[in-house]
Amino acid sequence: MSEAPCLKLHDAVQYLKGVGPHGAQLLDKLGVRTLWELVTYFPREYEDRRTWPALSALKPDTVGYGLVRVVDVSHRQAGNRMGITKATVSDGKSTVRAVWFNQKYLKAQLKPGQDLWLKGRLNWNGHEDEWQWIISDTEWMSAANREVAVGCIVPVYALTAGLSQVRLRTWMRQAILMAVPQRVEPYPHTMLQEAHLMGLGQAIVDIHFPKQADAYHAARRRLVFDEFFYPQLAIGLRRYHVQTTMKSDPLMLSGELTRHYTARLPYTLTQAQQAVIRDVLADVQKTQAMNRLVQGDVGSGKTDVAAVALLAAVESGGKGAVMAPTEVLAHQHFLKFQTLLSPLGVKVVLVTGKQSVGQRQAALSELSKEDPLIVVGTHALIQEALVIRNLRLAVVDEQHRFGVLARTELRRKGANPHCLFMTATPIPRSLMLTAYGDLDKSIISEMPPGRVPPTTTSTVLDNENEIFRLCLDRLSEGRQVYIVFPLIEESEKIDLASAVAAFERLQASVFTGYKVGLLHGRMTTREKAEVLDRFKSNAAQVLVSTTVIEVGIDVPNATVMVIYHAERFGLAQLHQLRGRIGRGGGRSDCVLVCTSREDAKGARIKALVETTDGFKLAQIDLKLRGPGALNGLRQAGMPDYKLANLITDELLLLLAREMAGKVVASDPTLKQPTHKWIRSELARLNQRLGWGRLN
Ligand code: ADP
Ligand code: MG
Repeated sequence: MSEAPCLKLHDAVQYLKGVGPHGAQLLDKLGVRTLWELVTYFPREYEDRRTWPALSALKPDTVGYGLVRVVDVSHRQAGNRMGITKATVSDGKSTVRAVWFNQKYLKAQLKPGQDLWLKGRLNWNGHEDEWQWIISDTEWMSAANREVAVGCIVPVYALTAGLSQVRLRTWMRQAILMAVPQRVEPYPHTMLQEAHLMGLGQAIVDIHFPKQADAYHAARRRLVFDEFFYPQLAIGLRRYHVQTTMKSDPLMLSGELTRHYTARLPYTLTQAQQAVIRDVLADVQKTQAMNRLVQGDVGSGKTDVAAVALLAAVESGGKGAVMAPTEVLAHQHFLKFQTLLSPLGVKVVLVTGKQSVGQRQAALSELSKEDPLIVVGTHALIQEALVIRNLRLAVVDEQHRFGVLARTELRRKGANPHCLFMTATPIPRSLMLTAYGDLDKSIISEMPPGRVPPTTTSTVLDNENEIFRLCLDRLSEGRQVYIVFPLIEESEKIDLASAVAAFERLQASVFTGYKVGLLHGRMTTREKAEVLDRFKSNAAQVLVSTTVIEVGIDVPNATVMVIYHAERFGLAQLHQLRGRIGRGGGRSDCVLVCTSREDAKGARIKALVETTDGFKLAQIDLKLRGPGALNGLRQAGMPDYKLANLITDELLLLLAREMAGKVVASDPTLKQPTHKWIRSELARLNQRLGWGRLN
């Protein structure tokens, strides 16, 4: 008897019986190339086909399903568009008329005597005076597939055109029989026991073909645990590595410059800012590099925390670097630092991708010297060739805009400099543990005094005149107005054109008594800086802008923010934009202008109208979009979860974290024989996510 060859786990799935080159192509579209990838392609949902009702029990106007045999078949062409196939089908006790629309292939394939699993809606057809079962899903039963298609809980997979549930299910069953015996359990027995986990092989079987609900839940629990465990282990090891081996020179603080800086500010730092600054200054005096995330809502005053940290580097005779995600923001930091620090004798240098060659050369020559200074820049700062000599401390502003790698690259610019990461995007606890689990955290928990949260309303384009009235009203009180248009890459040209057109229209016919500025990403750095400066100094009262103003722009006198086509923005982005106003005390207004009334009812728009609490909004965002979509996390090297849900599976996440912690504590190099398989599993994950470069 010749047996089909047994594939190894990482063999191409093409050689599985019945798959072949064409099947392999289809599977490839689902991201499945190997045997192991096939068995870890999990069902989207399940159908409980352990029992099903008799045909006579099908209910009118509802979807029902059942196993039937074809009695007779007929086809009819209605016009040249609509093909209708009808069959009398029987369950052995009674019959019903099954009807398919536009399924040409049925004409050749449907024959009396065949067994089918059908799903459809029972409708009354008055014309023909009969009940008809309008079929939406057809599965052909054969001896081979029958045992995984009826009489059990049946997996339903996400498919691709040309692939049927029946085929995929048949392949899956074969693949599981082949793969599971080969798969070694990576966890030591003690861990399985302690965490009450099902074995991996059994979990693979039961996630596809659960015998009952309990088996499914246990299988899912094991597999979700796995999805959390390895990333938590990677984070734990990285943290251990940083703590034990990455020694850093402590900064020697005189406190001189930081004292002068705070004295020169036109306000007193809030308690919260001071507390975070204390955390930072304590960190930089240790022999272990600072690795701290500062989280503070938009407008909480993170820039001053950054400034103090940078000055600490300068005080101890080194350089401090701060990297911002946009040209505009880098420029703004540069101006603020220059104004406040030049009088203290601290040199501030700017590095961006758009500088002239001359400016760039001058900056580079400063950076290559030993002397202390502060450098402000964009992504340009982490270019391979750029050298920052004597870099002692690095700040990444709006860190969620950068990936994990960017933060490592910056660290590489020095001999393990102290690092500070700042973000306004509040991160729910579960995400904090997964995406940022290796960082220490400080939270700026209070806003500067006198902030009044903006009032947010939503409206539609039709009400433009009302919006203009509000703007003109505030302008007449001496206030300033932001008007924002979306600009996304896919439709960049059209978006830009509509922003420019709006600018011209607003200047010519609405805000005639005022100066209107235009800001967008295509402008040169100098042009952008000029426009912003004019707005800052109130030489322009209205600023029409694409989303380049999203982060960091700070003009307290601006109290109105109008956002056109608000439905096209993400929740986090809208919250950031809104954070531009409400900074000067007194009333401020954010108007979300939606394209249609339907849009205005959207969940994101509603959430923004209802709350200004960034943390709540982040939770809502996580619920609405799932974690993968959250700002910057994809880039941040977050795994895509197949099964895990960061909100509902938080307890499992904590369990995985605890177990990973125990492994790190007992065997930080994973050299113990019991951890052999965990070690190779982790190596695979590191490779897939590009985490290898992190340590
Ligand atoms: P973000 O946290 O969003 O980066 P910024 O550092 O840009 O916030 O600060 C926002 C605004 O608040 C700036 O105008 C800044 O000068 C001002 N600010 C910062 N700290 C204080 C404070 N303690 N009291 C009053 N205003 C402050
Ligand atoms: Mg900021």
